[in-house]
Amino acid sequence: MKIAIIGSGIAGLSAGYRLCKENEVLIFEKDAEIGGMAASCCQESAENPYFIEKYYHHIFRSDSELLALIEELGLERKMLWLEGKNAYFVDGKAYPMNTPLEILRFKPLSLSDLVRLGLMVLRIRGIKDTAPYDKIKAKDWILDTAGSNVYENFFAPLLKSKFGDNAENVSAAWLIGRVKIRSDRGRGGEKLGYMKGGFNALVEALAEEVRENGGIIQKNTPVSEIVIQDNAVQGVVANGTFVACDAVISTVEPGVLDALTKGKPEALHETLRGIRYQGTACALLGLDRGLMQDGTYWLNIKADVPFGAVIEHTNFLPFEDYGEHLVYLASYFQNEKDPLWVQKEEEVLDSYLSGLEKIFPAFSRKEVRWKKLFRRLDTAPVYEQGYLEKVLPAAPGPRGLYLAGMFSPENYPERSINGSVKAGFECARLLMKSFL
Ligand SMILES: Cc1cc2nc3c(=O)[nH]c(=O)nc-3n(C[C@H](O)[C@H](O)[C@H](O)COP(=O)(O)OP(=O)(O)OC[C@H]3O[C@@H](n4cnc5c(N)ncnc54)[C@H](O)[C@@H]3O)c2cc1C
Repeated sequence: MKIAIIGSGIAGLSAGYRLCKENEVLIFEKDAEIGGMAASCCQESAENPYFIEKYYHHIFRSDSELLALIEELGLERKMLWLEGKNAYFVDGKAYPMNTPLEILRFKPLSLSDLVRLGLMVLRIRGIKDTAPYDKIKAKDWILDTAGSNVYENFFAPLLKSKFGDNAENVSAAWLIGRVKIRSDRGRGGEKLGYMKGGFNALVEALAEEVRENGGIIQKNTPVSEIVIQDNAVQGVVANGTFVACDAVISTVEPGVLDALTKGKPEALHETLRGIRYQGTACALLGLDRGLMQDGTYWLNIKADVPFGAVIEHTNFLPFEDYGEHLVYLASYFQNEKDPLWVQKEEEVLDSYLSGLEKIFPAFSRKEVRWKKLFRRLDTAPVYEQGYLEKVLPAAPGPRGLYLAGMFSPENYPERSINGSVKAGFECARLLMKSFL
């Protein structure tokens, strides 16, 4: 069977990997490199060139499909489980948030607020199914469960930095899913997973398997149409050329898929139009000196700066692996009119550096060896109230059309590499079953 896969992110590569042994697999990627949002860049200027993700990434122990895949590919020796220290910057001060004692010292919340917060986390840990919380707004649920101080002084800034103007519409299901993952710390505290040499190793290993089994990955090849006739897929138009195939797996964001299918079928078109995505502007800096001397990996920020989190990668991975300090500054934005999308790259980077100077008075721009900005319009669905009804099925209707990606059930109520692996595998399974 000839299968066209649109997109070489984790979902597309995972589907291709599962299908390539028994089928003719063609992966079309519009960009110059593979990996989608999990892609890395090579830092050539370093003494020992290395790969680093364009957008910060780590994984969790609960990411079982991804961990099984890493093992299947013989990459488990690269897995590292490391402590990633968290802190919260509020009212001009960074509060470490790793141990119960540190959390008790978080001044913006009173002791009774902290007790309410603790009880809320315990309650969340007991919730098995998040679906019933999809129709409730996170804000309302927090106000009811833990009170207004906990909402205003703890959750509201976090929701604002993650969802911008949509913060108040986010569902309690997303919040509960997120808190469940982060509070599953085990006895030795929370350990986060990373691959030595970066997730580039995973992306390359999947691509290698596809190629070794006769599959083809075409970079710089945008698909402009999925041709559907008589409710069945006929092929795709890639780089302006029609390529006939038996099935198509699309991993592109809903807005793009809507354009590719030319509004067909009507029911799918309505759903695709109803899904809102948000973008990310992520700066990556190479520094002479570490930024957060107390070893903080992840700093959430409530301050008047254009980013919502500072992520010091070399406080997670050893500095020696890179020979320079690496820091991400990240912000999400809601639409293409946002200054983070409209402004020139240099302007965004300049505003980010001004923000850093504000928060870290000891920081100097002279310490910046190099800086890069990565930004994309569609980096995550907005998990707003009622989103569950919009989650796209793997087989939406027309024969031979399959969907896997951040919009899939496996990525509800939060998207992740693990979710995209699962979604890609599920498409492969359904596709093989339907053509038996
Ligand atoms: C800032 C940030 C931090 C993150 N951190 C984590 C983390 O710590 N842990 C974690 O598990 N996940 C994290 N994620 C999420 C994770 O990266 C994604 O969930 C996952 O990589 C999505 O894979 P995908 O294949 O579903 O989609 P994508 O990676 O978006 O792949 C889709 C591919 O389709 C291509 N494409 C689009 N249109 C076309 C077209 N017309 N023709 C051909 N190709 C096309 C795109 O270029 C892209 O390569 C993070 C994401 C971001 C943005």
